[in-house]
Amino acid sequence: MANITPPKYVKQVLITLQARGYHAYLVGGCVRDMILGVHPQDWDICTDALPEQVRDLFPRTLTVGVRHGTVTVLIHSHAVEVTTFRTDGSYADHRHPEAVSFVGDLTSDLARRDFTMNAIALPPDGLVVDPFGGMEDIRSGIIRCVGEPDRRFEEDALRMFRALRFSARLGFSLEEETRAGIYRKASLAAALSPERVRDEVEKMLLTNRPEIILTTIEAGLLDRYILRREDDTASELIRFTALPKKALPRWAGLCAALERHAMIRSPQDFLSALHLDGRTQRCCADCCTLLRDAPPKTPKDWKVLLNRYGVDTVSCAAQVSDALYTRHCRDQLRAVLKSGECFSVRHLAVTGDDLVELGLRGKELGEMLQFLLEYVMDYPENNRRELLLQLVHGTEES
Ligand code: ATP
Ligand code: MG
Repeated sequence: MANITPPKYVKQVLITLQARGYHAYLVGGCVRDMILGVHPQDWDICTDALPEQVRDLFPRTLTVGVRHGTVTVLIHSHAVEVTTFRTDGSYADHRHPEAVSFVGDLTSDLARRDFTMNAIALPPDGLVVDPFGGMEDIRSGIIRCVGEPDRRFEEDALRMFRALRFSARLGFSLEEETRAGIYRKASLAAALSPERVRDEVEKMLLTNRPEIILTTIEAGLLDRYILRREDDTASELIRFTALPKKALPRWAGLCAALERHAMIRSPQDFLSALHLDGRTQRCCADCCTLLRDAPPKTPKDWKVLLNRYGVDTVSCAAQVSDALYTRHCRDQLRAVLKSGECFSVRHLAVTGDDLVELGLRGKELGEMLQFLLEYVMDYPENNRRELLLQLVHGTEES
């Protein structure tokens, strides 16, 4: 922790609060990350000042989260979230507390947090406040619920995803009761909104251990979206984890692996249920369509696919194909793209305007461009203007 200190603007917020007699602490993910020696992505502060009091102290604030006690302080082109100590009321839908109450003491605020590692507070000038043994758990690489796991997951089912996601991201293991609680309470995840589940799954897919998704499925957290199978599919499913750490190939790889094992009806079905964006849905569906056929053999085959599906989708399918079926599609595709050979009417040495000058219009013009493209895909060396214009003449005359 010694070598990571909060930036000046964060210290300024802490000190401004303290100077007015309020308590102010860094809390949550930023403290955990500092202990781990990782630079925090964002800095959260908790305080006993009420939201109106926080607003009065800083000239520029946003109040979108004020219902939950959070005031966003805008300072030197940064945003710092300042949240009043609170406890959460009862949880109606396994996700949202019906009401929050502001409290005067830090320990109550820390007690509502999800895991011991996220329930540590650090004052600007003093010792950490760690009532649940978070420091020790971080040192041992353990994710442990604050309090009784079953109850904490009943309150908010998203915490089960968070536990698995953090374990993948940090390489931590789940404390035994926390793990057992996830398996016991997994069915509550069905009530979560698809968007929240989608965001958690995507974050899992983008860690260095995307195989955590297999545990997530096995535990039953994704039963609303994925059919669990009793037979041992894990060793095959896990292959998609060899894909580059990017959202599109990892979603496509996951879809292809799940479809292959009949765990989803179709990629489209799965991804639309999770409210993925249209582009990802289309690209993954196209990738899976491509993967159902034998891989292209010749450069011409690749060019036909590139023309039909576009570079992004074909590249994605090639990556998934290599990962799932140990092929060498990416090398072949790279060679085709590197050759600079034409696979789209946009790359033809003649343009639509050239053909208009030659008197072609409408449907006829479209068909001619398509004919030229076919020809050039077969004879790439002939993608030359004069030659193609001659060819158009010849075809017109015949
Ligand atoms: P990340 O680095 O992914 O942002 P984080 O721990 O900062 O990790 P946030 O979602 O930003 O996660 O939440 C900030 C803090 O709020 C957490 O560290 C935790 O103390 C608390 N928190 C967030 N979500 C929950 C939840 N669902 N239940 C209980 N406490 C939560
Ligand atoms: Mg955070």
